[in-house]
Amino acid sequence: MEKTVPADLEKRIGKLREELALYQKAYYVDSRPLVSDLEYDRLFDELCALERDNPQYADPNSPTVRVGSDLSSDFPEFSHTIPVLSLDKAYSSQAVLSWTEKSIEKARSDLSFVIEEKIDGLSMVLYYEKGLLVRAVTRGNGFVGNEVTANIRTLPSVPLKLSQPVDIVVRGEVYLPKDAFEKINSTLEEPYANPRNLAAGSIRRIKSSETARVPLTIFCYEGFTDDAQFGDHIQILAYLRQLGFRIDPNIGYFCRTAEQARARLKEAGLENFVSGSFEDIPAYIQRRTRERGGLPYEIDGLVCKVDEISVRNAFGYTGHHPRWALAYKFEAPQAETRVLGIDVQIGRTGRVTPVARVVPASVGGSTISNITLHNQDYVDQLELAIGDTVAISRRGDVIPAVESVVEKNEEGNTTWRMPECCPYCGTALVRRGGHHFCPNYSCPMQAKLRISFFTAKGQMDMEGFGPETVSLLFDNGYVRCVEDLFDFDFSRLGGVRGFGDKKVAMLRSSVENTRKASFRQVVTSLGIPEIGSKAVDSLCDSGLDSMDRLLDVADRRAVDELLAVDQIGEKTALLLIDGLNDPNTRNLIAKLRSYGLKMEDEKNTGNLSQIFSGQSWCITGSFESFASRDLIVRLITDRGGKSVSAVSSKTSVLLAGQNAGSKLAKARELGVKIIGEEEFLSLIGRPAGEEKPAASEPVQGELF
Ligand code: NAD
Repeated sequence: MEKTVPADLEKRIGKLREELALYQKAYYVDSRPLVSDLEYDRLFDELCALERDNPQYADPNSPTVRVGSDLSSDFPEFSHTIPVLSLDKAYSSQAVLSWTEKSIEKARSDLSFVIEEKIDGLSMVLYYEKGLLVRAVTRGNGFVGNEVTANIRTLPSVPLKLSQPVDIVVRGEVYLPKDAFEKINSTLEEPYANPRNLAAGSIRRIKSSETARVPLTIFCYEGFTDDAQFGDHIQILAYLRQLGFRIDPNIGYFCRTAEQARARLKEAGLENFVSGSFEDIPAYIQRRTRERGGLPYEIDGLVCKVDEISVRNAFGYTGHHPRWALAYKFEAPQAETRVLGIDVQIGRTGRVTPVARVVPASVGGSTISNITLHNQDYVDQLELAIGDTVAISRRGDVIPAVESVVEKNEEGNTTWRMPECCPYCGTALVRRGGHHFCPNYSCPMQAKLRISFFTAKGQMDMEGFGPETVSLLFDNGYVRCVEDLFDFDFSRLGGVRGFGDKKVAMLRSSVENTRKASFRQVVTSLGIPEIGSKAVDSLCDSGLDSMDRLLDVADRRAVDELLAVDQIGEKTALLLIDGLNDPNTRNLIAKLRSYGLKMEDEKNTGNLSQIFSGQSWCITGSFESFASRDLIVRLITDRGGKSVSAVSSKTSVLLAGQNAGSKLAKARELGVKIIGEEEFLSLIGRPAGEEKPAASEPVQGELF
């Protein structure tokens, strides 16, 4: 990519700041945006990325470090007594989940999270003294807002007098229901683009009587009071409702276990909220995303918030947003760019993937220049040709995707077609299912990738065998397949540039060290599709714990036996059987065996009697005596049992710790034997308290 010279960079940053300021005024003050939210977000993200990469141009007045201001001279100003900021944002449920995990780590204590709808309206702060509404103020610049009290008084859903004479500051979102918007907008000479803009425009009327004509309403979502009795956000929401505020009923509450969440909601009198455990968060977000169109008002995302007020206070705020909340936005940022070319990449298994090379474009704060197009069907659906201008996004925050063709190329290029032959070995490509493959096992690209896979972290983890070294060894004909690693005399590299004595010694000892690798690593390193470390763990834990046992299952094509293994479905079972029956895999296994790699799972069983042999154990809840779940699983598998993730009629025992949730109920329902921590300790002959966890390391419940 061409490097931007500093003068251009400064100019670009200045231009972006100017444009964003203009768009902010049009959006926040005039309620008549000049560009779409996606376009605004694209420019905003570009500025964020430029400022992050070039901190010398930081400016405390940049729109990236301040809240977009709605201040206008039409209304008096008022200094907020609380921070009234924006929200940090994410575009995938996974990003939300990882934010919750990081928050728990940061807090060094267990937390719970509230997920609210992100109402697409106008932010409002309501000030009450002795139970009376004294002031309604817009968000303004986060510190100073405009007083629009008279207009807000016209909203029937804003209580003028509370049920108790308290001092409280309440944040809420003023919005216009969709049906009212349609009705009013159709009568306007200059219609608004969406309900949010009409609501914002109505609140900024000079005459309150004009505001009163628009059926605006409000959902309140934060309350700030000096009253120390509230330790949790859900308690505050319940209190706000009791005081007479309108609270959104579509709220989710998530704790370590679903049971905890249910119990706390019940205690707060908010049983109408959805409750769940942390592992339910992604599914909840996906469901809410799917169902949002059916709501009578517009939401543009969800807001995930830490529930514990003391933790909120400890996390605090940046100049732009609280650190205890994160908005999940439905619309991922997009950008437009042009397709310069489409290359094909060959994977380790021979699968061919078309990849678009595009003019580098910034999306969501990072630069994209290559985008996978998956397969021919995907290209056909897009009707994508080289030279086309395309809309691109980052799906799920991470994977760049071509969303659509915005403009066809002028060169007359037609929809791209997969080449007939592999660009690396010239073999004719074949189509299997949705994908094309290079069927040549000796294709140099596949061979190189297989060596890289075998030596990489997660497989044999061979120090010194980075991609460059592998390329060099391969291209010079020293190591042309995985087997060669064990035959090659590395001392031949002496004198080759980049291969000093130290490096050669490292490569040699890495090869020798493969003998120390676990059997599980050996199986994973075979590179059989879908047989990664998790599947290998399941196979070993279920008793298929030696190469001979695995090969025997493959020889007999015993799909049923594999289906009995936790987490192995039919597709994976067939891939494993085909993979192990492939003559190339058999050759590799023979080589690894002859070199002395482990062909059997080393169970640290010592003289342990196999008291759990043939039993499948499910674990739920939290435990006093063990530092981690892995430890409990090991204690079970070392004694011949296997661990399963869900309770079924086939489960032999449910080991239930404290706060056990739905699994306990299921086990009771199915009549599965249930034992507690103490009984387990006595079964394995260990006194309680031997494996106490560190205070900051809670053992997870229900996530298993
Ligand atoms: P935001 O809209 O991303 O989120 C922050 C706001 O969400 C809060 O201030 C609050 O008012 C609101 N909110 C709704 N429900 C909430 C809840 N349950 N809990 C907490 N807050 C809740 O951020 P923003 O700073 O208000 O606006 C930035 C966004 O506005 C941009 O990403 C862009 O989409 C849009 N925008 C568009 C233009 C344009 O020209 N099109 C210009 C400026 C801003």
